[in-house]
Amino acid sequence: MAGRPPRTPDGPLNPPLVLASTFHAGGPVAYGRDGNDTWSAFEAALGALEGGPCVAFASGMAAASAVFEQVPVGAPVVVPSNGYYGTRAALAGAPAGRFEVRMVDLSDTPAALDAVAGSALVWIESPANPGLEVADLAVLCRGAHQAGAVVAVDNTFMTPLGQRPLEFGADVVVHSVSKLIAGHSDVVLGAAVARPDGGLAERLHRHRSMTGAIPGPLAAYLALRGLRTLPLRLERGQASAGELAHRLVGHREVASVRYPGLASDRWHELARAQMTGFGTMVAFELAGGASAAEAVAGATDLIVHATSLGGVETQIERRARWPGESAPPSLLRLSVGCEDVEDLWDDLGHALEVASRVGRRSRAAKPVRVVTPHTAGGEADPPR
Ligand SMILES: *Cc1c(COP(=O)(O)O)cnc(C)c1O
Repeated sequence: MAGRPPRTPDGPLNPPLVLASTFHAGGPVAYGRDGNDTWSAFEAALGALEGGPCVAFASGMAAASAVFEQVPVGAPVVVPSNGYYGTRAALAGAPAGRFEVRMVDLSDTPAALDAVAGSALVWIESPANPGLEVADLAVLCRGAHQAGAVVAVDNTFMTPLGQRPLEFGADVVVHSVSKLIAGHSDVVLGAAVARPDGGLAERLHRHRSMTGAIPGPLAAYLALRGLRTLPLRLERGQASAGELAHRLVGHREVASVRYPGLASDRWHELARAQMTGFGTMVAFELAGGASAAEAVAGATDLIVHATSLGGVETQIERRARWPGESAPPSLLRLSVGCEDVEDLWDDLGHALEVASRVGRRSRAAKPVRVVTPHTAGGEADPPR
């Protein structure tokens, strides 16, 4: 019911797409940089799922930046060394002295607790993008709060249906709504959901108004529409991801598989304790190295070779093709969508066969060309 208009005879079931830069005088919003009914509908729905007031932003990175800006100048910020590269790049790219950036593998709890001492913000991503390392949310939230830090959790990979970080003590949850929540690879949008007390949501709202990091109404409309089917897409993607991960284990072209749902996975028990599913993402490394991985990504047919994740279409990418990404060279990230799992396995199996031929050839001759994406102005664009 959240995000729906009141039930009045002949009233629409869905909130209308409100395109307005200004509103009749006398209300609290007045101008389109401060509020919009279509944003509010989306925010009501996502806020209800995460358990706090939600503020939508132009993108996941805009939401993240709004949280970073709450940190005093020069204060230490703890970020995962192995999480989403854009987060690290945004902090590292800030003017000198703006932040003291402390990078640490947050799945290593003792190292993480050491890094947290004296920090102002602890940024958690679990499971991490792309390596799927799992961080102990309850322990890290407690440690961070003892140190006086604010805790933000990037919940893009699990969505509120798979993990609710506010319940583990986080102060704010950040989403790249562009991924699973919107779910159809046609929206760039972000959101931050704060705990109900403490006034953080109000500060983030003010930041959005003042910096203009506002969503487009159409993006918010599409994201809300996507959110309505998230349970079904997540359930399907998760079931298929588990099956594919299981089949990839032991495949002769595959050196290792990371999926928290595998009983053999290093973080399986922790994942079971804090997540209600294991997600739609699988990461695996190829025995034949980077060129074999690139060959697999290039040889799939049904599976789309593209960056980003969380769409209805299954996506594959060799993450290390992005300069600055810390992922192992042969790691392929698979975002499992809604196709038939047998069709996906046929496609992946065929692509792995191609890789095995590349592997044999490259051991004898020169390796296949490794595709590096376009980079703007000599600097790598943060990968998705
Ligand atoms: C994509 C992504 C982001 C950035 O979100 P945008 O909507 O692309 O700005 C942040 N965190 C994670 C984990 C992501 O996958």
